[in-house]
Amino acid sequence: MSAVAFTLHGLGVSSGIAIGRVHLVSHALLEVPHYEIPPERVAEERTRLKEAVDAVRTELRLLRAAADQSAAHQELDAFIDLQILMLDDPMLIDAALERIATNGINAEWALAQQLEELLAAFETIDDAYLRERKQDVVQTVERLMKELRGLARPMRARHDDWPTIIVAHDLSPADTIGFRGQRIGGFLTDVGSPTSHTAIVARSLKLPAVVGVRHARLLLEDDELIIIDARRGVAIANPPPEIVEEYRLRKAALDLERTRLARLKEAATRTLDGTEILLHVNIESPKDLPAVRAVGADGIGLYRTEFLFTERADRPSEAEQFEAYREVVRGMKGKPVTIRTFDLGADKDFDLSDERRAPANPALGLRGIRYCLAEPAFFLTQLRALLRAAACGPVKILLPMVMHASEIDRARQLIAQARRELIAEGVKVPEQVPLGAMIEVPAAAIALPMIARRVDFLSIGTNDLIQYTLAIDRQDDAVADLYDPLHPAVLRLLSGILSFAARIDLPVSLCGELAGDPDYAWLLAALGLREFSMHPDRLLEVRQRLLYANLDELAPKAQRLVKLDDPQKIREAFARFNDGVR
Ligand code: PEP
Ligand code: MG
Repeated sequence: MSAVAFTLHGLGVSSGIAIGRVHLVSHALLEVPHYEIPPERVAEERTRLKEAVDAVRTELRLLRAAADQSAAHQELDAFIDLQILMLDDPMLIDAALERIATNGINAEWALAQQLEELLAAFETIDDAYLRERKQDVVQTVERLMKELRGLARPMRARHDDWPTIIVAHDLSPADTIGFRGQRIGGFLTDVGSPTSHTAIVARSLKLPAVVGVRHARLLLEDDELIIIDARRGVAIANPPPEIVEEYRLRKAALDLERTRLARLKEAATRTLDGTEILLHVNIESPKDLPAVRAVGADGIGLYRTEFLFTERADRPSEAEQFEAYREVVRGMKGKPVTIRTFDLGADKDFDLSDERRAPANPALGLRGIRYCLAEPAFFLTQLRALLRAAACGPVKILLPMVMHASEIDRARQLIAQARRELIAEGVKVPEQVPLGAMIEVPAAAIALPMIARRVDFLSIGTNDLIQYTLAIDRQDDAVADLYDPLHPAVLRLLSGILSFAARIDLPVSLCGELAGDPDYAWLLAALGLREFSMHPDRLLEVRQRLLYANLDELAPKAQRLVKLDDPQKIREAFARFNDGVR
């Protein structure tokens, strides 16, 4: 066992800290044996596959029966049912049995060939739900492969106090239920995105997980001690005792805090001086809805629709988009939903596979609203889906990366066109759908009146606003330490936007990461922010801070702070500002 400490980076998809010992889960699909089967052994090979199917079916049924009926597990049970159904699907099993006979090959090889053919067919499916089932087919085949190869390995019982950290290529919900009865601390996977199964499972089981840690399985060994810090998206292997102690304390503090915070779920966010603040959340998919409900958010302040492009090469159709938007609108039961039009390009360079990719300087290139306006037909599809979804509940449309008045004017023309088309087709469209602009380019913040008079609301995107104001690439680690919300230029822009919006009575929200940083909650509220939008995990902590804010006292202090221009003095004033935080 190597004792050298090292850190792995990935994407934290569920908050919290776990400390435990590694359990490596094998990945049968990466190591498929290929050999030929002579005609006289074909029947035997087919029987081997049929027996594997029966064994997996029995195993899944047992898992299903063992699953408790809590809401968290109902979602997982649905996945298991689906896998059981797939074992009976002729397109999978019968076709693989056929291949054993016609190609004279072993069961694993036949299954792998059939899987490849099915996956190719999935690529052409236009329906998001069906396409997502691709992952279920892969996981069902993975399970069969393990059975065929005798790799289904029970977890070893542990004799020390550490829980188990599952390290896998990817995880299926059924796998996770199989871990029941074991003390699982968290997950680490090679692949995965915020919407992958591992992420859903981790969130529903409230366990910390870091996904997309490339080669995690290769770099780690069974039984190694590892720390997972999901909030930071890192894992530390073989940590020295003092780091373990540090994280143990942090974890204990986090666990206690979480229990206390959960009590604030039903509370309104009213400051000590009686100011009402709205706390909204940022989401990327309808799958985030349970997390939204868990924290009692007042609405959705930012729905990042570009995540519809995750793990696919083609573009989502109008029907598919409509479904995704409507599901969120319905799920929010009358609470407002702000849906941002596609913010593609730069850091959200999904595999668009078109000629518009890889410009010299993506962050300054054809991204956000620019991309959509350059592709009006593509943009119209989204606008039509958005207007249709707006008939189902209170939807607002938000344009990303706005820099110029003409972009809003053009977007309004296209919205009007989409509306005319839908009405001509007899589709129901609401009279008014509020239109907003993200303020995330300094030009928009500086020439704010030009933008403000054209929209119904503003949303400040501090992630990009800080990137462009300070000229630091948000994706470049080398300049990450220069990212500074307290830079006088940033503070002045923020305070300018908030005070101008207040003067003309224009609603303004802030949806960058800053909104979810509890240390900035008092300052932002004192500068006039009344609508925060953040990752659901952050909401209760921000609510707790705001409940103890006295804006009558803090507002003059905030005005003095933003007038300072010496970085050291700003820092000191900021520290004093949060002095009364409890
Ligand atoms: C932002 O830029 O602050 C923002 C919320 O948008 P995104 O992070 O999606 O670019
Ligand atoms: Mg942005």
